[in-house]
Amino acid sequence: MKDIRKHPFRQPTKIIPTRLVGKTTICPKCKAIFRIPWVENQIFPKQPILPYSGGGQWIPVSINIKCNTPECRETIDIQTPIVEVKSKWNLFGDEAGRLISEPLPNLSTKSLHFFCITLIGLHSTRQKRVERRLRSLKKSICPQKDPSTWVHHFSDIWGSDPKEKQYDLATKRAKIKYAKSFARILRSERPNLASFNISSCIEIASDKRERRVSLKYQKEDVFSQSILLTLDKLRESQLSVSWTFDNIKDSTNGNRTEGWASECFLGLQYLPLFTWLSAGAYIEQPRFVKPGSNFLLEIADFMSFWVAREFERKSIGKDCELSTASFGKGYYQGTIQNGNVLTEWSDSLPLKKFYGFK
Ligand SMILES: [Zn+2]
Repeated sequence: MKDIRKHPFRQPTKIIPTRLVGKTTICPKCKAIFRIPWVENQIFPKQPILPYSGGGQWIPVSINIKCNTPECRETIDIQTPIVEVKSKWNLFGDEAGRLISEPLPNLSTKSLHFFCITLIGLHSTRQKRVERRLRSLKKSICPQKDPSTWVHHFSDIWGSDPKEKQYDLATKRAKIKYAKSFARILRSERPNLASFNISSCIEIASDKRERRVSLKYQKEDVFSQSILLTLDKLRESQLSVSWTFDNIKDSTNGNRTEGWASECFLGLQYLPLFTWLSAGAYIEQPRFVKPGSNFLLEIADFMSFWVAREFERKSIGKDCELSTASFGKGYYQGTIQNGNVLTEWSDSLPLKKFYGFK
């Protein structure tokens, strides 16, 4: 039998929601009262089990921790809260990153790297309608092709050369106008359309190896945060969640792989925190699919592009062609240089609050 403990996993960032800080438990054996170690690994990762045959699922509903009295070390089983599941949201995620070599001196004297993941969810009653709206928008810039046969990658559209006539967008102004129409659709679908943008900005070293390590860490950190944040927010609203990502490229070794993400997810399953936040729901490992294979991935791609571009442009003292305010209210979470995580519902990317922009 395969021992799950032998699978490689990556230790996630140690952050927990404020409401869990200081929550204590009592050891039934020695009666010691101590704080629940939310981010210390359990002996086994807690994974839901789907039987080979027959119905039903097995869902972990307790966490195992050790008493923190050194002479006791009793294993204590704590039941997690069970929150009803009224329905399930499928979230679709995509990433964007920017290297900013020379940011404004008041932001940093070193080069910065910004990275974000946007996750998009849409109420099931709106799926067909939004898909139709986006298809007709795609058709408007590429009338010769069936819009369902090509992937809307906004960085390609933005960077396209009008001379090649790949898209019916002759000028930069036309591209901006097109982006505004795209954003208008998103805004008009609120609140049935929900977005979560999780970002991070770090100063990076000039040493290549050091730089590679910190970029890898930044990406894993944002990924783990995107899972924890959305798990927490959706379970709070009596919803279950599943995640589908555009095949996120692990640029650190050049391969297109989702291996690192599976290892991050397994790392999360080791934490009492993750089992607790799941609150009795069947939570599967995220799926990684071909880019653009769902229209919500195209929306996630679009939003991530503009969040990253807004950060990049403002960080060098320039205006951005499209403001994140044009997407309507979404959930934003940001990690600043000292590792602090800030989070809020906001009308736009909170550059001032999260990242100290003037
Ligand atoms: Zn004890």
